[in-house]
Amino acid sequence: MAILKFEIGPLSTNCYLYVDEKTNESVVIDPAFPTEKLIESIKKTDLKYILLTHAHADHIMAVAKIKEITNAKIVAHKNEEKRLLGDESNLYNALGCYNLPYISQNIDVFVSDGDEIKFGTKTLRVLHTPGHTDGSLCFVGEKIIFAGDTVFAGSYGRTDFPSGSYSNLLDSFHKLFCLSGDYIIYPGHQESTTLKDEKNFNPLSRYV
Ligand SMILES: [Zn+2]
Repeated sequence: MAILKFEIGPLSTNCYLYVDEKTNESVVIDPAFPTEKLIESIKKTDLKYILLTHAHADHIMAVAKIKEITNAKIVAHKNEEKRLLGDESNLYNALGCYNLPYISQNIDVFVSDGDEIKFGTKTLRVLHTPGHTDGSLCFVGEKIIFAGDTVFAGSYGRTDFPSGSYSNLLDSFHKLFCLSGDYIIYPGHQESTTLKDEKNFNPLSRYV
């Protein structure tokens, strides 16, 4: 299993390239900014999908470029479509992303809770985890979770942006905490963590 992390863009967003080493097929999660290193790394693999945990501007600035060079399918929840198309609720102004190479895109594949994304020998299951935005998703694989801005190490995503909801976020934490066994969590910002640590130490855990 190869998961490459790129910390890129104006808000140091975590973008992950998840490669199935048996087939070299891959997916990219939250391509935040089209750095040369990210683009070159993607080109070495057979990219199948561009997965978006949500479509805030700091997570999507490289979507258009990657789509252009790979023709991989863009996968997201329907509620994120307006943001990916450039609606102001993607916060491009607030996040200082307005001067960056951003081109609006349509979502190719709408996914919702329980759907599966398959590439190579890998499967990622979709968890709909609204709260940070109403279309926020987590992608759950074998002992790994790509969590976007839902859960961070010892913290959680803001809920004061358009379509955010604190009560929805608590429900989403409950959904994550119901997963059995331990998982490495790859969040949209800062360091990785584990589900076990967040069950024990996350400030929201006492309310879930
Ligand atoms: Zn966000």
